[in-house]
Formats: sequence, C-alpha cells, structure tokens
Amino acid sequence: MSNKNNLGTKFIHAGAHPDPSTGAIMTPIYQTSTYVQSAPGVHQGYEYARSQNPTRFALEEAFAVIENAKFGLAFASGVAATDAVMRLLVPGDEVVAAHDMYGGSFRLFSKVHEKMGIKFIYVDTSDVNNVAAAMTAKTKLIWVETPTNPLMNITDIEAVSAIGKKHNCIVCVDNTFASPYLQNPLDQGATIVMHSATKYLGGHSDVIQGCLMLNDQTLRDQLYFIQKSTGAVPGPQDCFLVLRGIKTLHVRMQRHCENGEQVAAYLRQHPKVAKVYWCGFTDHHNHDIAKKQMRGFGGMMSFVLKDDSVAAATKVLSSTKIFSLAESLGGVESLINHPASMTHASIPREQRIANGLADGLIRLSVGIEDAEDIIADLAQAIG
Ligand SMILES: *Cc1c(COP(=O)(O)O)cnc(C)c1O
Repeated sequence: MSNKNNLGTKFIHAGAHPDPSTGAIMTPIYQTSTYVQSAPGVHQGYEYARSQNPTRFALEEAFAVIENAKFGLAFASGVAATDAVMRLLVPGDEVVAAHDMYGGSFRLFSKVHEKMGIKFIYVDTSDVNNVAAAMTAKTKLIWVETPTNPLMNITDIEAVSAIGKKHNCIVCVDNTFASPYLQNPLDQGATIVMHSATKYLGGHSDVIQGCLMLNDQTLRDQLYFIQKSTGAVPGPQDCFLVLRGIKTLHVRMQRHCENGEQVAAYLRQHPKVAKVYWCGFTDHHNHDIAKKQMRGFGGMMSFVLKDDSVAAATKVLSSTKIFSLAESLGGVESLINHPASMTHASIPREQRIANGLADGLIRLSVGIEDAEDIIADLAQAIG
C-alpha cells in the first residue's frame, strides 16, 4: 500500500519543534513538577506540571496533527481518556455504545459510570439502524469502536456521525485498532477520537497512555478542565516515548498491513481453521464500509479452530514461539491472546457468547517480524 496523503511526513514532524533553549531537535523530557516564578503570578505560562508540561504539550500537538484535529489531550491511559469523555455527562444522560467493544471500556461503563447515573444501551453498531433505533431525547453520546475488538466488526463512522448530528449528541470513536494511519474518524464527522496510545501510537509495548483528539473548542476546554481536575495525566517520560513512537507509525503500519494480509490468507486456507475474522476479506460482511473509511486493514485478526474447544485453543496459545501469549496489541512484536480468559474476561460469558465471541476464539496482533517466520510459527502451533 502506498503512503497516501503523505502521512509519513506528517507523522515524523507532528509536534516537533527544536527546543527553544538549546535547539535540541528532540523534545526534551521535562522531568519537573513545578516551575519557578520570578514574582508571584509572574511566570512563562508554566505553573504546575499536572496542568502544563512542555513534553506533554508537544505530544498533544502531535496527537492533534495525526488525526487532522485542532486539539489533542494526553491521558495516563486509554481508559483514563475514556473516563474523561464520560465525565462530560450528568446523571440521567444516556449513551449508546457498541456491544462488542474493548472489555475495559465495558467494565468502566457498567461498573463505574452506571453507578453515577449514566445509562448505557449496548447495540450492534455495525448496523447503523440499531444506533438510530436506540436514540432517545436523553442520548448525549454515541460510543463506537471500529474495527471492534476482537471480532473485527466495522461500523460506518459517517452514518453514525450523521445520526449523532441529527440528535445533537457527541460521537466518540475508539480508533485504537485502526490507528491514524488507517482511519481518521473526525474527517468522517465524528466529534471526538479516542486512542489507547499504549497500542499502535506507542508501538513498542513499553508505555501505558491514552489520548483524545477533537475540533470543538468548547468540548476541548471542558475536557482540559477534567484532565487537570481529575489528574490522570501521563508523565513526561511516557510522553517522550509516544512522541518517538509516532515518528515510525507509517512504516510500522505498512508492515502490519502487509503481514496481516498474508497471515489472514494463510489461516483462512488452513484445514483446521473454521473462521478467520479480518476486515480485509472481500466477503467480510462490512468490507465495503471498511474499504470506504480505511486506507488498509491492519494486523489485527481473530480465528476459531474447527475444534472450537478451549483445550484445542489452549494448545495453540501455549505452543507459539514467536507470538508471545499476552494481552495488548499494536507493538512491533506479534502477540497471541485468548479473549475469553484474558482481555474480555470482564464481560459476562452469556453476553460474550451472544456477541459471537466464542470460548475458543484466538486473537492475533500480527507484528512486524518477517512474515514467513510468523506464518511458520502459526503452522507449527496449529499442527
Ligand atoms: C487497550 C485498549 C483500550 C484501553 O487502553 P489502556 O491504554 O489499556 O487504558 C481501549 N480501547 C481499545 C480498543 C484497546 O485496545
């Protein structure tokens, strides 16, 4: 896949300015909690590092640039960023949310925010009619994840954004799986983009971080107020790591896409594999929408064996040598995961099964190692 829209130049230069005090080309790690004032109230715009930190500000500028947004905000984790969005709401408000989203988002909504009087209605957002049908006068937010985790369902961002606009409600898209290299939800009409920067943006499995990108000044001011008031800010070292990660996002994503395509094709023809979930297949039920809103299909996929027992899945999960058995995704190294007992264990079993997330489902984050080694590893593990 070619680098459409000169994404490489954009990612490398996003938020990068030579340090004004020395000319350092890389943004320094401003490891400080406070800033000296020359007289009471006389300072250089920096008072206390929960509210202002130059390393974080450089990253927040980069976040805005990579999602074609006016504003970016960094948080201590993806769930902290999600939590900040939910804090825009008041008791009695309703949220229409994707029924098969990230387990940690579901846990945050159902165990934390429901108690605060927010009502969540979970629907299959891959059919936008379900979203339209769930809207009421109290709906203030639509929460979408596309592609979803781990079933790779696709939601039409433009269509959901139109529903949101009609009802004057915020549309927030968790863009973690696609990354800004493959998809820019604000360009399709979404109000807010959320990322777990822990994944593709950081890209090296060495940092926990989240972010929000948006264009609306009023919402940005509210979210900045929430960010500094609740204090879930990332430290400057972590900001530096994500700034560095973003510089190679396009190169990594290109390889994730190439490897993903090869692995998906390999698994699909494997006699022991029953089904592969990957949105790049032309017979994926929303492939046309994926093609419309994404520049490629990435390295995330799931599959089930014909023997869909937990025992058979466990054998594969325990036998890989290049794939490490671990939660998370989006790093340079390949990871294999068992959603039912790992990432999605916080979702009740009946709901998991009803959503199509089988006990034996295996999720892959295909890394950027050499494709033939990745495939050989799966071959020996599946047997
Ligand atoms: C990991 C993840 C999150 C949560 O982010 P953290 O950085 O782990 O808090 C949210 N959504 C998706 C899709 C994720 O993969």
